[in-house]
Amino acid sequence: MLASSSMRLSMKSLKASSKKISVGMLSLGCPKTLVDSEVALGILQNEDYEIADSVTDCDVAIVNTCAFIHDARKESIEKILSLSVLKDEGRIQKLVVMGCLAQKYHHELKDQMPQVDAFVGSADFPKIAEILNDVRQGRRVVEVGKPLFLYDYDSPRFSLTPSHFRYVKISEGCNHKCSFCIIPDLKGLHRSRRIEDVMSEVRAHGRAGVKEVILTGQDTTFYGRDFAGEFMLPELLRSLNSVDEISWIRLLYAYPAHLSDAILDAIAESQKIVKYVDVPLQHIADPILKSMRRGVTSEFIRALVKRIRQRIPGAAIRTTFIVGFPGETEQDFNELLDFLEETKFDRLGVFPYSYEQDSYSGTLPDQIPDEIKEQRFHQAMSLQQKISKKNFRQLIGKTLPVLIEGVAEEKKQGFVGRSYMDAPDVDGLVYVKSKSNHKLKAGDLIPCRITDSFEYDLAGEYVTD
Ligand code: SF4
Repeated sequence: MLASSSMRLSMKSLKASSKKISVGMLSLGCPKTLVDSEVALGILQNEDYEIADSVTDCDVAIVNTCAFIHDARKESIEKILSLSVLKDEGRIQKLVVMGCLAQKYHHELKDQMPQVDAFVGSADFPKIAEILNDVRQGRRVVEVGKPLFLYDYDSPRFSLTPSHFRYVKISEGCNHKCSFCIIPDLKGLHRSRRIEDVMSEVRAHGRAGVKEVILTGQDTTFYGRDFAGEFMLPELLRSLNSVDEISWIRLLYAYPAHLSDAILDAIAESQKIVKYVDVPLQHIADPILKSMRRGVTSEFIRALVKRIRQRIPGAAIRTTFIVGFPGETEQDFNELLDFLEETKFDRLGVFPYSYEQDSYSGTLPDQIPDEIKEQRFHQAMSLQQKISKKNFRQLIGKTLPVLIEGVAEEKKQGFVGRSYMDAPDVDGLVYVKSKSNHKLKAGDLIPCRITDSFEYDLAGEYVTD
């Protein structure tokens, strides 16, 4: 525990004022981290902290970090360093780093980042109020334990998303051992919330005016294995479908090996579950799938895509692929391009493989040079652009339900929303015009006739009759 002179000064300025102490949160990374940020802020709000709009204009700045891959760590570190400068200038008083970066690297960062007042592990944020009390008294805190926590319906929450949608974490942690991934180290083993607990949260969101809930977890298909000994996602989806207060339910992060017919049927038969299947496939060539330790083969994946399309007519399939994985040959990569061409995914993310020293894949021979990874990334993305353009053109003339997000940035574009095919942040938008000058607002769920298509977005008209 250290207390530097700048910390003592900060403490003085925090104590001198009688106004509430303000806390700003910068939440980096994925929606799962965002939920943790919301719970941490909820706890602090209950402890009489004021939640600031900006992390650069507050007394205590918290950065909830991501450490999944090199670029995410780089971004986290850059943000912490720029906030450290603000702290040196006296514009913020205290700086706290929480989440995955703190979980994994607190030993090194403690010495390298003297401006940081507290490091809080990825599951230690429920102690955030006590930690800030210590920090305000000039103590430096490192609170990093085993990642065991999972929030529940009773956890306080300060929402960081627009009021018409919310992320709901149904589980945390992961029992798989994909060779490129360090998440199980950072987040611990899989643990699920109970069905009634998730239902209570979704019902409460609905009563508060939320239209769409987005179910997340590291592997949502594994839901229930821990407490019931069997996969319980179909039961959860059917139960949530009965919650009157909500309009759309979207499921993210389905692990292909466990994406069973029972889950697909539950999506198909549940009117409120949007027909959107987010299934990160990562590759199609057998040698790479084996080396990635994904537990599936090329044949399985091809059959899975067929099963999805047969069992859920009109399903939008979203997936991600990694290119340039160690040992990926020209032949493996071409097999991936052929697969993209023949499958025509509705939504696709491609990522150049990120070398991770601490992952098993970091020890594999035949690491691919960065230039080749980049080249393969651009090749896959430009192929997908062509596929996406064609897919989108086929939607012209169709009427899709669209959830309005708000007014478009450019006035002439009217309003902006998302169809069932689009998750927030990762997918496209629908620009909506209303002929009758009908004022639309965020959260309105409207029928929209598609009139035009672009590379990743659509445009359409509000159908009023
Ligand atoms: S399923 Fe694989 S990629 Fe996803 S979190 Fe688990 S180990 Fe990582």
